Amino acid sequence: MIFELPNLPYASDALEPMISKKTLEFHHDKHHAAYVTNLNNLVKGSKFEEADLETIIKYADGGIFNNGAQVWNHTFYFEQFGKDKIHMLKNGAFSDAVYRDFGSLDIFKDKFSNASKTLFGSGWTWLVKKPDGTLDIVQTSNAANPMRDGLKPILTCDVWEHAYYIDYQNKRADYIENFWKIIDWAVIAKRY
Ligand code: MN
Repeated sequence: MIFELPNLPYASDALEPMISKKTLEFHHDKHHAAYVTNLNNLVKGSKFEEADLETIIKYADGGIFNNGAQVWNHTFYFEQFGKDKIHMLKNGAFSDAVYRDFGSLDIFKDKFSNASKTLFGSGWTWLVKKPDGTLDIVQTSNAANPMRDGLKPILTCDVWEHAYYIDYQNKRADYIENFWKIIDWAVIAKRY
């Protein structure tokens, strides 16, 4: 199948000042776009030519896996933000699970932030739902995606330097602190 770059679900300046227009233009229009282009070139003539992204993430290796997972990861990351129409965490099944498995939303955020700060090198931090329904935080390196291990992604933070370097330089912790201010919790709760 031919993969396409999804449009951002908001204007490129909608997340300022937490994530600048310039960062989003590079991150979406250049990086995300390049993963789509690379993936389309790589699957041509391969056994994954007709595969969807989830199949690629579960079964592919090498460049097809790396680019396919990065296409999926970035779409998932960009979809969870919304500055103007942001929704707070409401009572419900997801909120219950956060309190049950972490104690409170603040404790969860601290643990997730810490996992994001301490991830060595390029990668992603994930809130995942395990097959038994409980929540957990996992770190993955480079393009890796928890679906490969049978986990359902709920929330993610991109800690590749390209996600924050223009705005925050080496201050990854500041990027993560501001990351929480643009999370749309209605999107996250729906994923759960
Ligand atoms: Mn990225």
